Amino acid sequence: MNRLCSMIVLTMTLGGSMANAQSADELINDTVTPGDVLTYGMGYGQQRYSSLDQISVDTVSGLVPVWAYSLDDSRGQESFPLVKDGVMYVTTHAATIAVDAATGKQIWKATVEYPPETPRAACCGIVNRGAAIYEGKLFRTTLDANIIALDMATGSEIWRTNSIDFKAGYSFTVAPLVADGVVIVGISGGEYGIRGYIEGYDVDTGERVWRTYTVPAPGEPGSETWPDDSDAWERGGGPGWLTGTYDPELETVYWGVGNAGPWNAAVRPGDNLYTGSMLAMDPKTGSIKWHYQFTPNDPYDYDGTNELVLADLDGQKVILQANRNGFFYVIDRLTGKLIAANKFIDRVDWADSIDLETGRPNETELGVKIRSGEQVTFWPSAFGGKNWAPMAYNPDTQTAFINTLNLGMNYKGVEPQYRAGVFYFGAEFSWDWPEGDRGYLRAIDPMTAEVKWESAIAIPRNAGILATAGGLIFTGNQSGDFEAFNAETGAKAWSFNTGSGIVGQPMTWEMDGRQYVSIVNGSGAVYALFSGDERLADTPAGGYLWTFALHGN
Ligand code: CA
Ligand code: CA
Repeated sequence: MNRLCSMIVLTMTLGGSMANAQSADELINDTVTPGDVLTYGMGYGQQRYSSLDQISVDTVSGLVPVWAYSLDDSRGQESFPLVKDGVMYVTTHAATIAVDAATGKQIWKATVEYPPETPRAACCGIVNRGAAIYEGKLFRTTLDANIIALDMATGSEIWRTNSIDFKAGYSFTVAPLVADGVVIVGISGGEYGIRGYIEGYDVDTGERVWRTYTVPAPGEPGSETWPDDSDAWERGGGPGWLTGTYDPELETVYWGVGNAGPWNAAVRPGDNLYTGSMLAMDPKTGSIKWHYQFTPNDPYDYDGTNELVLADLDGQKVILQANRNGFFYVIDRLTGKLIAANKFIDRVDWADSIDLETGRPNETELGVKIRSGEQVTFWPSAFGGKNWAPMAYNPDTQTAFINTLNLGMNYKGVEPQYRAGVFYFGAEFSWDWPEGDRGYLRAIDPMTAEVKWESAIAIPRNAGILATAGGLIFTGNQSGDFEAFNAETGAKAWSFNTGSGIVGQPMTWEMDGRQYVSIVNGSGAVYALFSGDERLADTPAGGYLWTFALHGN
């Protein structure tokens, strides 16, 4: 019945109807309709590239704020805003908000109520990364492991489903993905001894349609990669805390899987599928079509969750990922075969290369030392060569733009102690800082990971990136500057200080002939909270949703 309904809506849309009902087709075509932004990452392929060029290298000096809306929340803000029919939708941990996209005036605000003990059960700051929208409903997740559907017109709740008891360390920060009429989410909690999963919900009823565990139970495919004489798999990690991508032609969803738990790999000999991997899945059933593992038996906290960007490289349908482990992967979208994997940062200690035949890393001596409990230093740190903040990809110039981190880690494995809802590392660690710059904005050739240009920064960026046909790269830094760079040269073209650190995700759309760029600011999240970088002391907390356009346009 649902399928029939959406087919009718699709037919109406193709017939030129202005019906408000949103069809699957609209989501599929999001990248070619610059008047709205309906999907996380500006399209199912998450390229974060826009064909808009009114704001360009030539005009960007006239870029000014047109409104700023207070999120009334002093936590770190990472939400990706969506725009439909002149309304912008944004989430915080504590609220879902609709504002007039032209003026920033609030239309509705729906507060999320949490049990008082909730904040304990979250790693790395309390964030929410955004919403999904489909057929008049907005879907979001909550830190206490609920999925909620709201009426896009009013903000009133339509359904709410609890996924799991958050007290055991499970939580949601992910922006959902609606693919083939299913709301798909991945659980967080890789540092809490969870058993990770990705799951799909019915858009209309909120009923769970499927759950696919990222750590197999004994006897299931992949269980042979876990020790058979222990219950390590029950706390084996493998969260899915960043939004996957979707190829509607192949009817396949691609989802990254996080680190194995605990960090101390000595207690879980074996490759530990499907941790540190990516999965190709059927959105209707959650069944795994194929997998590729980036970091077998991971002792480094190299989550494989980073965004899986869909691209056509020289006629080949591929997936691009800048993995935390320091390698930039190009993978065949149909088969999962590795095409290229090269280092996109300067120092990668754990592996010399990735074998293109087997897809496995050629690990260094470090792997032996760290697993035997020796005190070691390794680069990149658990923050990764790139953290969660999404890159952008320009399909015309076949260039990826990445905020990289230049940090190492001192580390020693210790006996892990499991307690529900408490950090489960099995490791003692501290940071290893470089003398100079701790981050770079880099333009990279995906096939070779050759750096076309870079822009160094003392305090590393951990914000998303947007690329546009105007020849610009937008991002933000943790000192609060919203910034534009020349995509060809890397020269800074423009910046504006927003008054608090930026760890959000820029996006752009047009309305009545005017191009807008939006981003949330709000200091916080993993680096600000855990690095101890004193230079951030002068950056105030507090979040706004900012929107910019050319002056007088
Ligand atoms: Ca669109
Ligand atoms: Ca992790």
